[in-house]
Amino acid sequence: MNRYEALATADPEIHRLAQRELRRQADGLELIASENFVSVAVLEAVGTVFTNKYAEGYPGRRYYGGCEVVDDVERLARTRAQELFGAEHVNVQPHSGTSANMSVYFATLKPGDKLMGMDLSSGGHLTHGHPLSYSGRDFPVVSYGVDRETERIDYAEVERLAVAEKPKMIVCGASAYSRQIDFARFREIADACGALLLADIAHIAGLVATGLHPSPVPHADFVTTTTHKTLRGPRSGLVMCRKEHRKALNRSVFPGLQGGPLMHVIAAKAVALKEAATEEFKAYQQQIVKNAARLATTLQDRGFRIVSGGTDNHLVLVDVSSKGLTGKVAEGALEEAAITVNKNTIPYDPNPPLVASGVRLGTPALTSRGMDEPAMDEVANLIADALEKPEDGAHLAGVKGRVKQLADRFPLYPNLS
Ligand SMILES: *Cc1c(COP(=O)(O)O)cnc(C)c1O
Repeated sequence: MNRYEALATADPEIHRLAQRELRRQADGLELIASENFVSVAVLEAVGTVFTNKYAEGYPGRRYYGGCEVVDDVERLARTRAQELFGAEHVNVQPHSGTSANMSVYFATLKPGDKLMGMDLSSGGHLTHGHPLSYSGRDFPVVSYGVDRETERIDYAEVERLAVAEKPKMIVCGASAYSRQIDFARFREIADACGALLLADIAHIAGLVATGLHPSPVPHADFVTTTTHKTLRGPRSGLVMCRKEHRKALNRSVFPGLQGGPLMHVIAAKAVALKEAATEEFKAYQQQIVKNAARLATTLQDRGFRIVSGGTDNHLVLVDVSSKGLTGKVAEGALEEAAITVNKNTIPYDPNPPLVASGVRLGTPALTSRGMDEPAMDEVANLIADALEKPEDGAHLAGVKGRVKQLADRFPLYPNLS
């Protein structure tokens, strides 16, 4: 792989920034649960000449000439996603998880139809009905959360609410929920109130693809996902649905919401979907889950409370108020030590979202670098050490030095710098 030589000549400023970002990614510990490091093959696919092509429409029915090659690309991406997830129909054109969800709502709901989703502060996503998102503006919303004691979804309570409120659509899936989601139970709930069911597996798609989390595909009318989180593809989205919704979904994506698809990104999605069908990828996903469990127990050993007591998936929600800290302070201190996390509300958080009482940690990115459980012990200890003196710059600089040593043992994109 080249080192962006043309870019270096044409635009030294952007080239320098790309090198700086590569160094940041390589030298630090990336624990943002929604991030990952794609393969060099996926990086190369995003940089292909497919970026030059307009392809409004769908394979075989385009509004522009010269689409015979990109038609094959899109067909390949679609087939691979269909086979990987066992879906009846797939649309690979959504630019992101947010537009994937929008395309489902606009395919099925009219303004004023009621939407039910998990609230943001319990681990849901903005697009599941938050008032600041289109999803909470165009539709009346009823939200469910988690139980105060178990910090898990209380399915009986969700059902009670659904039957009382009769939403037209129920959304399940989350951004900061560390436990398995019972999609079969959500189907029963949707049936009990006559709602459509959307499962948003943006975070757990890699686990679902490899059988490490039960699949919603047999249960949900629609399944949306991003492709860049555990699935380890380019920054994008896709939608799966039952055959009867195929037409409505396709129309909703194009021409309803988007113009020309990003064919270079669709090509990269195809590459990632091929990778996701391999035995290596399954082993990788297994290691993600083991690493998250180990990170949780080592942090518990260091005195941190873990929301819901542990994790079933790739992420860990740490209650840093158990150490007298806020999420904001913890995020800032860890950043100074080159450990990247995000502050996150915990269930029934007394602090507002921009302060928060927790941090969310995810293992997909570090696992992509080859880190295993012993490395997770080191990561947990670095986090705990940093947070012992979160206001002490010299102390954090010391932790940062140890972070660099650990990172150097697991090189990232060695041929790019
Ligand atoms: C990340 C995420 C999205 C949105 O993805 P974008 O690509 O950032 O728009 C949607 N739903 C869930 C559950 C997510 O975690």
